Amino acid sequence: MTADRPKPSARVFCIANQKGGVGKTTTAINLAASLAMHGQRVLLVDLDPQGNATMGSGIDKNGAALNLYQVLIGEATVAQARLRSEAGGYDVLPSNRELSGAEIDLVGMDDREKQLKTALETVGDDYDFVLIDCPPTLSLLTLNGLAGAHGVIIPMQCEYFALEGLSDLVNTIKRVYRNLNPGLELIGLLRVMFDRRVTLQQQVSAQLESHFGDKVFKAIVPRNVRLAEAPSHGLPGVVYDKTSRGAKAYLAFGEELIRRVGGRVRRRAA
Ligand code: ATP
Ligand code: MG
Repeated sequence: MTADRPKPSARVFCIANQKGGVGKTTTAINLAASLAMHGQRVLLVDLDPQGNATMGSGIDKNGAALNLYQVLIGEATVAQARLRSEAGGYDVLPSNRELSGAEIDLVGMDDREKQLKTALETVGDDYDFVLIDCPPTLSLLTLNGLAGAHGVIIPMQCEYFALEGLSDLVNTIKRVYRNLNPGLELIGLLRVMFDRRVTLQQQVSAQLESHFGDKVFKAIVPRNVRLAEAPSHGLPGVVYDKTSRGAKAYLAFGEELIRRVGGRVRRRAA
């Protein structure tokens, strides 16, 4: 190891699933905090006008002077708009409903799907991981996320219709791969809100493992009320109650992801 070897720039991952309410934002927030606790430098990009990832990180979405909207339309840089989540130990590129206007403003721009990618390139060296919390749509915003990412992490509930939705999403990823971003990879599927007492969930989980093999993360996030309570306190679940089963699962997931991408788990911050 030589000291002057260039630092690898951030790995950029979208947390995506076009199905609503499946646990994308909960995963984005808790993975960001978990990676930070494992010593990683993390930026969480809130690509959803709902602003849930912003609020759940303890940042007032309407109080931020600048947000992702200004970044996407070229009126601010990521360095100007990012804020620190003191609660989570990571940076946040905040959003609020203003971001829905970006859909319209982007349509007339050249390289309209590449605006986020271009913006993130300016801060790539500041982070080990950039996580993008996608909205529950396959909109121009989500395309900006997928076009700017190295990989996609798909949180999913082990229900019957989840598998159907999954094939739509995998097809979208393939289309983005062919047309916009040949570097895009499926990083893995994360089972969330899992209840092992439900036979159907066990069956779907087993089907996922047989279809997707190693692409299914070993960590499984249980349904856990502490994770659902945490956002109302402006805290990631892994900070709000780190002894809860949900927190332990996200801490294990962070470690698994670091190892999967060949990173090094560093000593956990106190
Ligand atoms: P949207 O599609 O609207 O962006 P989402 O996919 O981001 O939704 P979340 O907002 O993370 O989903 O979760 C939906 C709801 O489920 C929230 O109320 C959240 O607190 C709750 N939830 C998420 N994960 C868990 C879990 N493991 N255990 C219990 N509740 C959970
Ligand atoms: Mg969400």
